[in-house]
Amino acid sequence: MNFKELNLSREVLAALAVCDYKKPTPIQEAIISQILKNKDVQAIAPTGSGKTAAFSLPIIDKLNKNLADDFKLPRALILVPTRELAVQIDASIKKYAIHTDLKSATIFGGTKMEPQVNKLKKTIDILVATPGRLAEHIKEKNVNLAHINTLVLDEADTMLEMGFSEEMGVIFDSFETKPQTMLFSATLGESIKKLGEKILESAYCVNIDKTQKGTHKIVQSVYYINRDEKNALTSYLIGKQYQHQFIVFTRTKQTAEEVFNYLVESGLKCDSLHGDKTHGKRQVAIQRFRDKEVQVLVATDITARGIDIKGLEYIINYDIPNSVEDYIHRIGRTGRAGMDGNAISLVSSSEVYSQKVIERKLHIKMKVVKEKGFGNDVEDTIKAPKILIRKEAKRDVTGAFGQQKKKVKPKKKTTKRDGDPKAEKFEKKTSKTVAKTPTKEKKAKKLIDSKTYAKKTKSYKDIRGR
Ligand code: AMP
Repeated sequence: MNFKELNLSREVLAALAVCDYKKPTPIQEAIISQILKNKDVQAIAPTGSGKTAAFSLPIIDKLNKNLADDFKLPRALILVPTRELAVQIDASIKKYAIHTDLKSATIFGGTKMEPQVNKLKKTIDILVATPGRLAEHIKEKNVNLAHINTLVLDEADTMLEMGFSEEMGVIFDSFETKPQTMLFSATLGESIKKLGEKILESAYCVNIDKTQKGTHKIVQSVYYINRDEKNALTSYLIGKQYQHQFIVFTRTKQTAEEVFNYLVESGLKCDSLHGDKTHGKRQVAIQRFRDKEVQVLVATDITARGIDIKGLEYIINYDIPNSVEDYIHRIGRTGRAGMDGNAISLVSSSEVYSQKVIERKLHIKMKVVKEKGFGNDVEDTIKAPKILIRKEAKRDVTGAFGQQKKKVKPKKKTTKRDGDPKAEKFEKKTSKTVAKTPTKEKKAKKLIDSKTYAKKTKSYKDIRGR
């Protein structure tokens, strides 16, 4: 299939020719015509699948066909979790709409309100915004969303995880009529299903994760390594591939800064991206990386979500992320738009459990790689927790990783029958079967486990549903 067959207008096709997109990606093939037919859409689409164009192209087409002088207010709203993603999507829209008179603008937090208020007074057709700041503008009556007829929720799972559901409610309440809605997420969790039920009407559903299998490959490998050797191995691996760029992911901003400092000291050109940096500095870091002025970007999960770096072949998981979703987002930075990629995880003994959960949930087996001189004494600890892993993994349906549990020593069995000769006989009789049947303690432990589990699930749901 080519773009012409998707019934896109001349203006959009001309813009695509400049982008050098030869044919639609699977998500584009699946949903562009549905959006043009005014259908709601729910799509599970990994980052890098071409989803920005998948929703932007038909939106541009539809708005462009209904362009009238009196349309000053925004008609399409794209909600995204981070300002970096907002800037990136806005840039793509401007590129795709170059042959039209449509105007797009961004609104996001972390910068002054005033310039945004002025921006909102001008004509805007497509507004790309983060929920928090947009809700603030609504409350202060700086923006009128009454004419919104198209709504996109991009990376909706991340927006919910970040606790934006209240702000999203404020935004939805400000529409005059129900807009055509497109809901995108990397995974289909309970909260996304619930949100879909609330805001979508007879939606066209597509799961690109499944249909795209085999079209591109991310080689996922793992180094089992001591914690204190991670810096040296990271630097070594990057140095070895000096012609390639890397994103190194860390869970916390402190670790990001530590790794960044180490890599700079070891002579690599790098930048860091985390929550302690101003928006301006983050944008500069991303741009420098895009322009290939730096080889390495050390980033935390949230700041790097959705960032699109063309042709990026390597990511390193300096530590194992907090959830399977984060892992999917991290590796999605590479292997974009059908290209191959490499995701390397550095796993110390305390992280083996979490890494195994990822493998089990994603039905993958990371390729174990060794580097001479690194991680020799981790080997033994890798085999040890196997049985425990299987037990624990069963309980973990939330995607968040729990801590590896310590083995509980069974207490001495005390029953009412203690000291009773009949009881001793009974004990002897049953002792052979004790190994097979669960003891009271084991049963009790199971009960406690299931209670803790229920609590864990509840609190997780509570957070997601906020
Ligand atoms: P996205 O998933 O929207 O972030 O897009 C990922 C990357 O794929 C971006 O660099 C896009 O420019 C690129 N892309 C989108 N659609 C196509 C296409 N049909 N052919 C080639 N590259 C594309």
